[in-house]
Amino acid sequence: MDKRKRKDETRIVVSVFFGLLILLFIGIYTGRKGIENKSPDSMEVADTKTQTVLSEQNTSVLRQDTEEESNTLKQDTEEESNTLKQDTEEKNGTLEQDTEVKTETKQQDKEDDAHRLEIIKQAEVLAASYDYDGSIALLKSLEGYETDEEIMSQIQEIKSLQDSCVPVNMEEVVHVFYHSLVVDPVRAFANQNTDPQAAGNNQWMTTVTEFEKIIQEMYDSGYVIVGIHDLIDAATDEAGNAVYQPARLMLPPGKRAYVLSQDDLSYYHCYDNYGYASKLIVDENNKPVCEYIQEDGTTVTGAYDVVPLLDAFIEEHPDASYRGAKGIIALTGYNGILGYRTDISYTDVNNPNLYQDKKNWILDHPDFDIERERAEAKKVADAMKEDGWEFASHTWGHIKIGEVSLERLMSDTQKWRENVEPIVGPVDTIIFAHGQDLGDWGPYSSYDEKYQYLRGEGYNIFCNVDSNLYRTYFGKDYLRQGRVNLDGLTLYGNAVGERDNLSELFDASSVLDPLRPPVLPLQ
Ligand SMILES: [Zn+2]
Repeated sequence: MDKRKRKDETRIVVSVFFGLLILLFIGIYTGRKGIENKSPDSMEVADTKTQTVLSEQNTSVLRQDTEEESNTLKQDTEEESNTLKQDTEEKNGTLEQDTEVKTETKQQDKEDDAHRLEIIKQAEVLAASYDYDGSIALLKSLEGYETDEEIMSQIQEIKSLQDSCVPVNMEEVVHVFYHSLVVDPVRAFANQNTDPQAAGNNQWMTTVTEFEKIIQEMYDSGYVIVGIHDLIDAATDEAGNAVYQPARLMLPPGKRAYVLSQDDLSYYHCYDNYGYASKLIVDENNKPVCEYIQEDGTTVTGAYDVVPLLDAFIEEHPDASYRGAKGIIALTGYNGILGYRTDISYTDVNNPNLYQDKKNWILDHPDFDIERERAEAKKVADAMKEDGWEFASHTWGHIKIGEVSLERLMSDTQKWRENVEPIVGPVDTIIFAHGQDLGDWGPYSSYDEKYQYLRGEGYNIFCNVDSNLYRTYFGKDYLRQGRVNLDGLTLYGNAVGERDNLSELFDASSVLDPLRPPVLPLQ
């Protein structure tokens, strides 16, 4: 384009030059003719004029030429400069883009690595808690796992662990239970000779240090916590009726399954000032923790009872629990649950039948709002369920199932349904209070009215208290399980050699809290 332009210009210059030359000759010729007629002066003047004109024309053409060349050069330079600038800008842009792409790729790689490591970690926890299928499925969710040697060998390892598992003997699943743990044995057991509450604390309660030693010793011996529902293989027959069979629960050789429960987790008014936690709350991570009122009246939060202590232990030892199972919390309702005064009876201080401790509590809490109280309790119950805890009825009024009338059982069950179930959700398990039961060990009589009533209310799992380590009975469509009380009476009796029913689980004498005074025999 530029070259063509320059050629055209050259052509113009040459044409003008020859044109002028022709004019010059014509001029000379005309001049000669004129000389013949004019004076030499006039000839000179004319000549000079022509020369000046020519010279001017030449100069003008030259100037134009120079200007045009200069302009072309300038344009060229500008264009080249622009092209260079554009090139540089484009190169810089490409570089920047390259760098951005590289940074993004690196970031993505980093994220992929972090995700892979997180999945590996989660898979390890699942495998440790005996959920081998879940663990393998998680590892296989990683993109390109088939070519990842580390992942493939991890899967292989999990498969061989799974293959080595043996079925749990359902006849040998122990069920242990606790009440709220004693945080301060000095306050709990003082004056037990004169204070019936202190005597009861010493007989029925376990201390925090005893509980910690027991779960550690049982873990060291290979005991694994399982959920009570893990024991049942529930199916339906042709007629659509439920059929319970013992589940085929698989654990590595040497491991033994056990169920754990905790009764009366209400922080009853009668526990006040005896060195127990006062309520369960959720912390900033939505995990249950206890509030505990110290002797000087100040309140602290932390792991002061079974729930947060066991949560922490299983967090540290995932193989202490079968697939994250925790325990069953057996709740009454008459003093509320989990430390919250959620029962409707707290809304009527003028009720002449209201116990004095409830009246005192209502008078001490003029800002009491039952809906708020229930909402707070529900927050804790939801967090516990999320963490593997289950709930059961312990009857609303801690009634003696063997002695009460059917009518009393019915009204009590309805109170539980109205005051406790909305907070913890529907349950199918009833853990009888006072260690009583509907009948002797073995199948329940289907003619028993209380049994019929409870079945109709949705209860299929029934637990009592039994000093035998192993008590599991599968009815056609229900389960019964006896529970061993790991309380002061049993621990002390085993530690001093008056009883011997715990040696398979742990060494009672090494577990017994040195701050526990001798446990008085039952009156
Ligand atoms: Zn109880």
